[in-house]
Amino acid sequence: MDTNSVNIEAIVRQVLADMRSSEGASAKAPAAGVPNVAHVAMLTKLKNFEIKEYPMPPVGDDDILVKVEGCGVCGTDAHEYVRDPFGLIPVALGHEGTGEIVKMGKNVKLDSAGKPLAVGDKVVTCMIFQDNPAITTFDLNKQNVGAADVYGLLPDDDVHLNGWFADYMLIRKGSTVFNVSDLDLDSRILIEPSAVLIHAVERAKTTGILRFNSRVVVQGCGPIGLLCVAVLRTMGIENIVAVDGNQKRLEFAKRLGANATVNFNDFKGGIDDLTEGVKKAFGGYEADFAFQCTGSAVAHANVYHFIRRGGGLCELGFFVDGGPASINPHFDLCAKEITLVGSWVYTLRDYATTFDFLKRALGIGLPIKELITHKFPLSKMNEALETNLSQAGLKIAIINE
Ligand SMILES: [Zn+2]
Repeated sequence: MDTNSVNIEAIVRQVLADMRSSEGASAKAPAAGVPNVAHVAMLTKLKNFEIKEYPMPPVGDDDILVKVEGCGVCGTDAHEYVRDPFGLIPVALGHEGTGEIVKMGKNVKLDSAGKPLAVGDKVVTCMIFQDNPAITTFDLNKQNVGAADVYGLLPDDDVHLNGWFADYMLIRKGSTVFNVSDLDLDSRILIEPSAVLIHAVERAKTTGILRFNSRVVVQGCGPIGLLCVAVLRTMGIENIVAVDGNQKRLEFAKRLGANATVNFNDFKGGIDDLTEGVKKAFGGYEADFAFQCTGSAVAHANVYHFIRRGGGLCELGFFVDGGPASINPHFDLCAKEITLVGSWVYTLRDYATTFDFLKRALGIGLPIKELITHKFPLSKMNEALETNLSQAGLKIAIINE
């Protein structure tokens, strides 16, 4: 029964895709002539991007050639720029990118969610070249994509178009790709970081503690903490307190849905003083649930103090190894019976859920696109990375043309 309905669905999808691709040529403006060369911002040594020119590679039967429109700068790019911890140099970075299909192989019909694909569609990629069904099966939702590769963190090869800091990208067989033509460019650039929060909230929900009426602390108001506030508000949680040391970011957290903020610089009397500040922001109560969105060991140790007995915590700030943090297992975990979950990256299914989150967030008027504070052309890659490192803004993006 199930097998039959799946087969019929697949057949219908295929027929629709065939119809769409045969009318594609007339329905969509033809792709402007694809040039003979592509430009890639190649990190050739530490703190040095160079714009390299490469011949446009042939597009195989399973490949998709994308004209890149833009790509967000991630903390991981900054790590690579400064230290190259993954030893990838020379490397084409950029994994938060999006663009328009200008050419595709004859075998490409559907995206990873079963939506038809055609020249002119706007796309993003998720993980690539992975054959573990716990990761790649779209609806299984079993394992996060952390063990898979992504474009933008691949070693250089003879194709060279391996990252989104470029004017063209070649999506090859074995990659996940999503048709996101119904999202504007800024929203598409925010997909990858937003997916991290969709996953974190899914992890939080497994505790059974997070409810519509929960009092929720979000600690840390960088792009991830701010998106956390927006995701919680978009899903209907009203009572959110944001904690950070930067007043400008706290103000923005309010516009994204926090109804109170706590600036830790106002509390010089140690953790007990700060805890009183958080309680006061909740009208005299501790939090039911907390999201820890900083990479600071002190912040991790502090967050337990804000949570009530029987409450929950989602730790997602230690996205990379930030060293150990000290807690007191008796007071922080056992005596309070805290339910703790960790969260890292996302599953393939969370990625697609993120598209709907972005539409709903815009629908209820949250200014999420203002998270992108700086836009640079590809020729200013080094400047873009320096701006990211200076922490002058929130999300930095490279926008082509
Ligand atoms: Zn990233």
